[in-house]
Order: sequence, then C-alpha cells, then structure tokens
Amino acid sequence: QAKEQGPAIYQFYLPQMNERAVARLKIETQLRGALARREFVLHYQPKASLINGEITGFEALLRWQHPAHGLVPPLQFISVLEDTGLIVAVGEWVVKTVCEQIREWQGQGLVLHPIAINLSARQFQQQDLDSIIGETLRATNIDPRLLEFELTESVLMKEAEMAANALQNLKAFGVQISMDDFGTGYSSLAYLKRFPLDVLKIDRAFIRDVTTDPDDATITVAMIKLAHSLGLKVVAEGVETRAQLEFLIRHGCDEMQGYYFSQPLPLEGASKVLMGGYRLSMSNGICAEQ
Ligand code: C2E
Ligand code: MG
Ligand code: MG
Ligand code: MG
Repeated sequence: QAKEQGPAIYQFYLPQMNERAVARLKIETQLRGALARREFVLHYQPKASLINGEITGFEALLRWQHPAHGLVPPLQFISVLEDTGLIVAVGEWVVKTVCEQIREWQGQGLVLHPIAINLSARQFQQQDLDSIIGETLRATNIDPRLLEFELTESVLMKEAEMAANALQNLKAFGVQISMDDFGTGYSSLAYLKRFPLDVLKIDRAFIRDVTTDPDDATITVAMIKLAHSLGLKVVAEGVETRAQLEFLIRHGCDEMQGYYFSQPLPLEGASKVLMGGYRLSMSNGICAEQ
C-alpha cells in the first residue's frame, strides 16, 4: 500500500513544487534586474486627522513598474524580496528615495507631513540598519521628524533583540515609530511597553466589519483605549466607508488611512496634493481635483 502511494505522491507533488521553485527563481532574477533597472516606484497614501480632516502624513508603498505586466503590487513580490534577502537592498533604496523626495519637496517650499516607510523583519537582521538610516538622514539633511518607520508585531517577535537596539537608535535620531497591522500577529501587549513606539495602526481586518460585527467593534474600541492609555497615537487602516469613519470619530480614533480618504497616489499625485492642486476632503472621499 505504502509502496503504491509513494510514487503517486512523488508524481503529484514534485512537479508542482518544482514549478513553484522555478517560478520563484524566475521572479528572484527579475527582481534583481528590477532594482538595477530602477523599475521600483513608490506610491504615497495620505492619512487624515479625524479631528479636522486634514492630511497628517503619507505612507510610502512600494510598487514594481514592470515593463510588460504594468504596476505590480507588493503582495506579489515582497515575500520573495524577504526570502532572498533582496529586501535589504530594496529597503535601502526606499529610505534613500523617500529622504530625497522629502528634500525635493522641501526645496519647493512645500509644507510637509511625515512620510512612513515599512520595514521588514529581515532588515532588522542587518547590524547597520540604523546607521544606514542615520547616514541617509545626514546626507539629505532632512528633518528626522518628517520620517516615520512602520513595523509589524512579527518583526518584534522574530528580531526582538536587534529590533530593540535599532529602534532605540532610530528614536534617538528623532524619527517616529509605528506598530503596523496591530492585532493580526502575535499581539503581545508587552511589545507595546518594551519598544519605543509612537503610533499604533489598527489593522484593516478589524475595520472592515467594524459597523456590523459587534466583536470587531469591541476590539477596535479596546485598541483605541489601549493605545491612548499608553500615550500612543492611534490610526485606523483600510477605512472605506462613511459609516466606518463615523464609528472611528465617535470612539476617539486620532487618524485614518483608507480608500475613503484616498488611494495610494503616484508621485505626481502626491506632489499635487502638497501643492494644493488636489483638495482631499472627507465628504467626497477619493481625491477630487478642484
Ligand atoms: P501595509 O504597510 O499595511 O500598507 C497598507 C496596505 O493597505 C497598502 O497595500 C494599501 O494600498 C492598502 N490599503 C490602504 N487603504 C486601503 C483600503 O481602504 N482598503 C483596502 N482594501 N486596502 C487599503 P499595498 O500597497 O498593496 O501594500 C501591501 C503591504 O506590502 C504593506 O502593507 C506592507 O506590509 C508591504 N509593503 C509595501 N511597501 C513596502 C516597502 O517599501 N517595504 C516593505 N518592507 N514592505 C512594504
Ligand atoms: Mg504599513
Ligand atoms: Mg498596515
Ligand atoms: Mg497590512
């Protein structure tokens, strides 16, 4: 029986795994090329204050401008960048690009808001993550308060020692630190105390049904209270409807990010917003040109 199953399983699984491995290798090769050919781009999604509806900042989000496939979202390649370690080089490119962009906007005399950069666990394995960021800050001579770093619970779990050390140094530069996707990982509340955080971002998974699912509503309200009692600012991710927005305002959430306010914008769109060419408003949702 076992003998008969052996080859069958072999035949069934191996070609598939092989195919996957080959596909992954192909993506890896393409991603290496993408960095060299400068095919990565950043989109910038605005966040808004729930007190006055004004922009409070942006999150830089990576996209791959593929010559044949168009704009590829990060879910399709971030895990390959992480597994292969390519995220280290790409992550450095992100930091440099954001700092240079802040500098350029500053040179144009625009009033700026902090820009958030996502960091993967893999980047915290680099001994010199903080010094590379410090050097980039010095080289571009930007105000560190205009820079924010987002990390997830999994970073703090996988790289606790390295992260604690790196985050202390980053804080000392004067940048902001946010806990991203809160509530989806191994939500150890000890993390919130142990690491020098400024912002807690409630994951979209809780916001989606916040007005219809009493459990999500309870959890969201509890997270807002928890954040505030620890002196953290709280941001709701993935806000798509007026009803969600009103719920969050009612429960004292500080800021929101989501399609209801704006999609992530390409560079020109973000520049236009800063120059006042687009007026983002809460009542009409997605950016309306005026
Ligand atoms: P994230 O950091 O949680 O970013 C928020 C994601 O939610 C973005 O997806 C954004 O486009 C999406 N989003 C925002 N508002 C809404 C909404 O109202 N509804 C829905 N359905 N989605 C919304 P995106 O750009 O596809 O990025 C996915 C993830 O990829 C990010 O999640 C982040 O974990 C990772 N990522 C993106 N850029 C970078 C990067 O430069 N470095 C690293 N390490 N990771 C990145
Ligand atoms: Mg993020
Ligand atoms: Mg998030
Ligand atoms: Mg997320």
